[in-house]
Amino acid sequence: MNYNKKSVLDADVKGKKVLLRCDFNVPQNKETGEITSDKRIVAALPTIKYLLDNGAAVIACSHLGKPKGEWKEKLTLAPVAKRLSELLGMEVIFAKDIIGEDAQAKAAALKPGQIMLLENLRFDIREEKNGDDFAKALSDMADIYVSDAFGTVHRAHASTVGVAKYLPAYAGLLVEKELSVMGKALDDPARPFVAVLGGAKVSDKIGVINNLLDKADTVIIGGGMAYTFIKAMGHGIGNSLLEADKLDYALEMIEKAKEKNVRLLLPVDTAIGNEFKADCEKKIVPVDAIPDGWMGLDIGPETVKLFSDAIKNAKTVVWNGPMGVFEFEAFAEGTKAVAKALAESGAVTIVGGGDSAAAVEQLGFADKMTHISTGGGASLEFLEGRELPGVACLLDK
Ligand code: AMP
Repeated sequence: MNYNKKSVLDADVKGKKVLLRCDFNVPQNKETGEITSDKRIVAALPTIKYLLDNGAAVIACSHLGKPKGEWKEKLTLAPVAKRLSELLGMEVIFAKDIIGEDAQAKAAALKPGQIMLLENLRFDIREEKNGDDFAKALSDMADIYVSDAFGTVHRAHASTVGVAKYLPAYAGLLVEKELSVMGKALDDPARPFVAVLGGAKVSDKIGVINNLLDKADTVIIGGGMAYTFIKAMGHGIGNSLLEADKLDYALEMIEKAKEKNVRLLLPVDTAIGNEFKADCEKKIVPVDAIPDGWMGLDIGPETVKLFSDAIKNAKTVVWNGPMGVFEFEAFAEGTKAVAKALAESGAVTIVGGGDSAAAVEQLGFADKMTHISTGGGASLEFLEGRELPGVACLLDK
């Protein structure tokens, strides 16, 4: 996969109308529709400001939620337009439709230095189906296309891939950072390169484990998925998470690590609970001594030491997935310790999106990381080494 893509900095944007795909898929209060975090809108500001300051007219677009092609008033982007306007300190013209009369008229009248926002792309079923007529109509309003929604680059939709057939396509500053930091880590990492993988399911991370065993010097496996590996090694795991159909795969990965001379680190002890509850009874046991009826909910202190030592010696660390049920205070220690080890490592540290990003933020380590990916699914596919359609369609450098 070629990550070396032209960015907005390589484009001549002066006097141009720029179709800017943003990720304004903000969390909302289900009852009132109120935006509960404007982080994603704030994250989009550097590219928007760059474009406006350099004489472009910006036609921003995004999806919000899952309206599945239906017009749902609760999922209108109008509150995003309002918040964006407050953050920019200028008017954000809001189109009442996506490619309809209102959008077209407002796009035609848009002047350099002005910004408008289209209505929720996913109100039209053709967005997710990558309808060619829909992509063409979006493109017809603009002169160039800038992709700044990393969270959707693994999807081949009209606004992420379709439009690149009709417009010269560039990466925005957010996407450019994702590509340069993660691309470098995968293609040419400073070594030792340590990958830390956790989370609930082996099946979600099969491609990631496999790909990282080809690239990393050490692969660390914690979280719920470690118990399938522990079981595969012949130990009882009580009521811990198990994916019985992945036992053979776990053994294959253990073999692959040996063949490739990659250090594969698994938990040596574990914090167990007698129920899946925040206030359950808790004990620390070696991984080969989990009693029946108990479940592993976090890595234990010996494992924390083993994993932290490996992380502290690394020059590049990629982390995806918590080490335990960090949502329960009593079982957040392993995840906290790994976050701390990353923060203190002095290495290039990259945290995959989704739960590990949330954990790092919740635990207060966010500003200590080199990069926290903004896309959960997209960053997993990136780590799997898969081609991301919304990146492949951008102009090569
Ligand atoms: P993922 O989305 O695959 O990264 O998984 C994140 C989820 O895995 C979090 O909600 C954690 O609570 C959960 N998790 C981590 N470790 C365990 C465990 N040992 N048992 C059950 N769930 C876990």
